[in-house]
Amino acid sequence: MDAAQRNPTLHVSAHPLVAHKLAILRDTGTDTKKFRELVRELTWLLGYEAMADLATRGRRVQTPLEETDGAEVDPEVGLVPVLRAGLGMVDAMLELIPTAQVWHIGLYRDERTLKPVEYYNKLPDAATVQVCLILDPMLATGGSAAATVDILKAWGAARIKQVSLIAAPEGVATLSGAHPDVDIHVAAVDRELNERGYIVPGLGDAGDRQFGTFAGPASEPGHAAGDETAEVVRRLQRDLAGRS
Ligand code: URA
Repeated sequence: MDAAQRNPTLHVSAHPLVAHKLAILRDTGTDTKKFRELVRELTWLLGYEAMADLATRGRRVQTPLEETDGAEVDPEVGLVPVLRAGLGMVDAMLELIPTAQVWHIGLYRDERTLKPVEYYNKLPDAATVQVCLILDPMLATGGSAAATVDILKAWGAARIKQVSLIAAPEGVATLSGAHPDVDIHVAAVDRELNERGYIVPGLGDAGDRQFGTFAGPASEPGHAAGDETAEVVRRLQRDLAGRS
């Protein structure tokens, strides 16, 4: 049984175009410009699938020939890109649903503990949307995703979905364990997290590859991480093994 069969809220795209584009995205030979284009195209395809169950309401529409029945999306939709790598997914989603609101929540991943640390949150007091799509190319430990869902639920969002390009099994287990009502839409679930918290085989650092920030060792996949990071990953892997 694969991960998607075990977890009914995990949706792994079976679309051939998604598989094709994902392979190019992973390739180290793909430059920054092409990488950004692929993130956009994959987001478009995954977003289309993730919004397949949005409720619609009827509306009458006048064509040049006659009046007929039409439909419009009913819920207010909010896009919540996880800074910074999620930013590259926003424009594609807005092409699909131009009326969506974009709310920013800034969480960074402490490089040693891999725990999410909130540094930006300007959500108003009450939720202004019913459906939230969290955008983060990499669902790695699942810590940022679960923390973002905590924030959005406290805000009052009724329905929350995570849209990521690649997930680690550990990340899916963490998010689904904490929030079994959250649908997870991905192009692929990869083998595992490595001891530095990177998804393997993955694509490296999605932020660096989108924004061309390969400046220093700390921003590159494979940079030295402490024992604490490896211990967090081992704990996630033990939790995952305990669930299966
Ligand atoms: N974030 C990334 O950008 N890449 C990974 O592999 C994991 C987290």
